[in-house]
Amino acid sequence: MGKFTLRYKPYTLELRHVFTVASFSRTTTPVVLTELEYEGIIGYGEASMPPYLGESQQSVMSFLSQVDLSSFSSPFETAEILHYIDQINAKNTAAKASVDIALHDLLGKIMGQPLYKIWGLNPDNIPATSFTIGIDTEDMIRQKVQEAGQFKILKVKLGLQTDKMIINTIRSVTDVPLCADVNQGWKNKEEALEMAHWLKEKNVTFLEQPMPKEMIDENAWLTERSPIPTIADEGCQRLIDIPALKGVYTGINIKLMKCTGLREAKQMAELAKALEMKVMLGCMTETSCAISAAAQLGPLVDWADLDGALLIGNDLYKGMTVENGQCILPESPGIGLTKE
Ligand code: MG
Repeated sequence: MGKFTLRYKPYTLELRHVFTVASFSRTTTPVVLTELEYEGIIGYGEASMPPYLGESQQSVMSFLSQVDLSSFSSPFETAEILHYIDQINAKNTAAKASVDIALHDLLGKIMGQPLYKIWGLNPDNIPATSFTIGIDTEDMIRQKVQEAGQFKILKVKLGLQTDKMIINTIRSVTDVPLCADVNQGWKNKEEALEMAHWLKEKNVTFLEQPMPKEMIDENAWLTERSPIPTIADEGCQRLIDIPALKGVYTGINIKLMKCTGLREAKQMAELAKALEMKVMLGCMTETSCAISAAAQLGPLVDWADLDGALLIGNDLYKGMTVENGQCILPESPGIGLTKE
């Protein structure tokens, strides 16, 4: 296998609360943790597989077993290595991200600098992260909001019949700005527009994936009229998707697990900005590994939603931390992890 050694193992994240969105509930998330070693230096990576994305621990490990880096002689052949990884097949974006993250961590460690410094980004410019309140009963919502007292912005999951109850319940406890993720749950554009106006009155900052991604004309109709920005999440996976989304949504939600990792995520943020679209940086439930990797790009974005590691009870790493709602990146090389 040449100078590179790629190792990987399955791991199951235990969620602190049952997590409910418009289409499902769950209590665990399967991930695969990777290590890419080169001349004694180890980069860490991770693939997180919420079930709706179609990847599993088995599919990720099967993908990783096909990776052969023996023809590459240096991690600085980054572009070629990641092009090779991407062309192995058309899917497996989380598996690809687990190699991309480990490779970037390795590069930063070889250079002795955090990635954000290598990219010339100021970590003070990372927006305050939102914290997600899942769909729940009124009592549980109040309890979760109280637990989330340090956050400057909360994210709520909408898209069921309980939308107004959820917002009103949160508003009975706090005035903190909200963002709303509908996860494609609304099916009617006129009702969606009515809700957008109602949500603006309730100090909701933006609306993530209001209607199904296939409803392109309806999402564009809503975006044109909505008093708050609309953001594509399920409707935007990779760099190539972005130009067609201009006008359909105000902005995009970039996640490493959707777009194959840091290299493409950075290109996406830059392209969206050039197209004068808003950029949100999101995550799955992940350990501090993938979260700390994503946070390196935080200074490039308008909104950060990097609470994934806070939602789990068995993180294996320490990296990006959240203090008073702000993302704090360690000054350590690469993605800045230490093992717990
Ligand atoms: Mg979303």
